[in-house]
Amino acid sequence: MNQSYIALGSNIDEPIKNVQRAISELGKTNKVIASSSFYLTKPWGYLDQPDFINAVILIETIFSPYALLGQLQALEKHMGRERTIHWGPRSIDLDILTFNDETIVEPDLVIPHPHMLERAFVLAPLSEINSDYLEAYLKLSNESRNEIQRLGLERL
Ligand code: AMP
Repeated sequence: MNQSYIALGSNIDEPIKNVQRAISELGKTNKVIASSSFYLTKPWGYLDQPDFINAVILIETIFSPYALLGQLQALEKHMGRERTIHWGPRSIDLDILTFNDETIVEPDLVIPHPHMLERAFVLAPLSEINSDYLEAYLKLSNESRNEIQRLGLERL
């Protein structure tokens, strides 16, 4: 059985519900082994953007990395289309962080995710469920660690 860490993020419609729903949907075709707390990420750059909700889950999957990517993209499309009339921003963003200990570098799929070690909103939830990443999280600047806030919400 394969193990994969997946990052989830949402900042439109009802972000907490979107992330919860995506976890629940992914659990229908894969086994969700662990789920982090939810984090509130302040927007930066475009300040009038709503806050993000971020989380990381660990799944066990029988699918290949590409089949898993296909599932994530189908779910992004499905959830993004449901609430908007026109094609607009997606209400859920799903990224494969790792897949077993495989390295994949293809135009449409890079694993481990190239920016995962730079982002507090990935490393904080990830290190909660895999302490191997704690060191990388602690190496981030205070500034980037202050961009996120752990919510009291636990897993579903
Ligand atoms: P984004 O719009 O940021 O969600 O990026 C989506 C694109 O990133 C898709 O076209 C994917 O093929 C590509 N991609 C590359 N590596 C990954 C990964 N590890 N997880 C998810 N999408 C990926």
